[in-house]
Amino acid sequence: MRKKKIGTAVISICICALFLVVAIMSVVLLGFREKLSEFETEKENVLLQCQILQENMKTLQEQNGNLETQIAQILENQKQQEQNVHLDTSIENIAPGQILAYEDVAENLDSYFSSRQIQEGDEIYSRIYGKSYQENGNVALSDLRYLTLLHYNFNHEIQVGEMIVNAAVEQDVLGIFKELFANEYEIQSIFLIDNYWTGDADSTDSASIEANNTSCFNYRPVTGGYHLSNHAYGCAIDINPQQNPYIWMTDNGWGWSHDNATPYVDRSSGDPHVITDGDICCSTFEKYGFQWGGYWSNPIDYQHFEKALY
Ligand SMILES: [Zn+2]
Repeated sequence: MRKKKIGTAVISICICALFLVVAIMSVVLLGFREKLSEFETEKENVLLQCQILQENMKTLQEQNGNLETQIAQILENQKQQEQNVHLDTSIENIAPGQILAYEDVAENLDSYFSSRQIQEGDEIYSRIYGKSYQENGNVALSDLRYLTLLHYNFNHEIQVGEMIVNAAVEQDVLGIFKELFANEYEIQSIFLIDNYWTGDADSTDSASIEANNTSCFNYRPVTGGYHLSNHAYGCAIDINPQQNPYIWMTDNGWGWSHDNATPYVDRSSGDPHVITDGDICCSTFEKYGFQWGGYWSNPIDYQHFEKALY
């Protein structure tokens, strides 16, 4: 009987232990499942982040590719622009009034001081025919030369100039303007007088003076007279006419035509563009056989240099 009780107790204990073990294992398994579930969720999150990162990386790579393309395009454009600048500054492509950098012209400086004949129907002929050039019995088209040259403007920039001169003084004029350029002498602008054409030669001359333009050839009589000016032959040049006016004596003192010249009638202003006896402008023209109108007594033509041919 006692044995039976003991057996029953053992069995009960065993069953209890078994339950306990089962309960513990259930708790452990439940915990493990939760952990597993958390792990799975975390894994999914990590995978999702990896996917996002991959997509971001792909986008960045694409952007990088686009940037590289853009940089290549910019470099190509820059190269093209440099080539264009080079083309634009070559002697064949320069236009009067164009501003050039010294580095662009330094190597072939002489080539910018050029001369060529004017042919009927060419571009220069079209600009001057019926304007500064009139059909006449004194000056033939073949007597004239179209010059390009460089000068420093009033901002001290290098500017392209143009001028029509008589073939007989072509080399002198090129020599003069090369020397003036080398001395960085400032001239406001040098355009053909036809750029200021008003309908007749005299008032065109006046318009060019108002613009302070330096010029040479203009088929016209002398100022206030009937015989041909040396400008009509292309052998007289007016330099910076605003600072160097044409003046004449009147009963009330000196007279002049252009109000913009008023501050320069008195020649002692010290302005660097006022031509004075023996300065670099005056002495350079004289060196090539030109005479200065500033030495005349009445009228006095401070802007005027001429080499009489006829
Ligand atoms: Zn003159």
